[in-house]
Amino acid sequence: MEQMNNQDIQQKSIDDDSMEKEASTGVINSLEKKIYELRNLIEMGMSLSSNLEFKSLVESILYSCIGQMFVEKVAIILQEDIDKDSYSIHMAKGYDEEFSRSAIVFDENSALIRHLEKEAFPHLSTDLREHPELRHDLNSIAMLDAEVVVPLVSKSSMNGLLVLGEKIDGSAFTPDNMEFLRDLARFAAIAVENSRLYLMATLDRMTHLYIHHFFQERLNEELKRSVRYGTPLSLIISDIDHFKRFNDTYGHQQGDVVLKETAQILRESVRGFDIAARYGGEEFAVILPETDLGDAIVVAKRLRKRIERHGFHGQAAPLHVTVSIGVAQYDPERDEGKESLIDRADRAMYRAKDAGRNRVVVIK
Ligand code: GH3
Ligand code: MG
Ligand code: MG
Repeated sequence: MEQMNNQDIQQKSIDDDSMEKEASTGVINSLEKKIYELRNLIEMGMSLSSNLEFKSLVESILYSCIGQMFVEKVAIILQEDIDKDSYSIHMAKGYDEEFSRSAIVFDENSALIRHLEKEAFPHLSTDLREHPELRHDLNSIAMLDAEVVVPLVSKSSMNGLLVLGEKIDGSAFTPDNMEFLRDLARFAAIAVENSRLYLMATLDRMTHLYIHHFFQERLNEELKRSVRYGTPLSLIISDIDHFKRFNDTYGHQQGDVVLKETAQILRESVRGFDIAARYGGEEFAVILPETDLGDAIVVAKRLRKRIERHGFHGQAAPLHVTVSIGVAQYDPERDEGKESLIDRADRAMYRAKDAGRNRVVVIK
């Protein structure tokens, strides 16, 4: 056996050292990368879980995918309506066309939904294509150029799907990427679920307007804002005329149709940041931030006219109802809190009733 001389031994130990150093640098690099990714994930998780506002939550989920995965196209398919079981496109980024919700609709029994809820981790669409029973559903999401499909499952209920297009540099999704998407999907699914529960707790089932309690809370907040910034705030209260008689004549179910359609007209008659609520059975209220009495009257008159003209869906022919509306503006000098503002708007509404109904009355 050949003997190593001193120089050889020295050389070998230098080689060993540098290999060891290289190896440990590699380990440190990959640990640092892992720490960086975990930090990212924690931050994303915190930001997602602190966001109850549905639209901005969904937006931040999509931007996380774009930013972390380097993809251009990403879409989210959600079970969004509080009393519907079907899934549709809720938001999409990076596509040429704007997708309407109805462009893709899966019902809860569709093969793809059933398949994904069983295995709550990201799937490459090439893998999914190997299941013949999924082809039909996959063809229907083909317009999203899906490369990866990520189920959003929380507490074993399927909240929706994230669909990612190809990476900008054309490279394949790595196992690390898939792991990241799995973790993101866990946070996103819980956040989506919480935000849906929040919506369900604050929205009236029949009209999808805010419930009374939430209206009161929002009014408190908006009054504070109005005082702080010195901006005006007005309140509208409306009540359907002779609704008891309507119910007696056409039936309670027909009355419910009127309530739903009235709520829809109300939503379409106010701005996105106005707060429309079902105040009572057939009473509706709208908080109008940054709106003085004059502008609130314009809104109230438009609403009254639209309802008067609207043909409500009836069994035989369109039906008609009218509303009486009261309007008041918050006056920080006079009003201690929300009660006296609500009282003025309410009294104005009753004056409208007394004056013959189907009109707008203001109490200054
Ligand atoms: P007025 O013009 O004075 O307002 O007469 P009105 O008959 O509308 O009187 P009021 O506002 O006191 O009556 C409320 C009626 O609204 C009684 C109730 O049957 C009906 N109502 C309340 N909630 C609902 C509901 O969820 N569905 C239906 N169909 N009717 C409702
Ligand atoms: Mg009433
Ligand atoms: Mg009424």
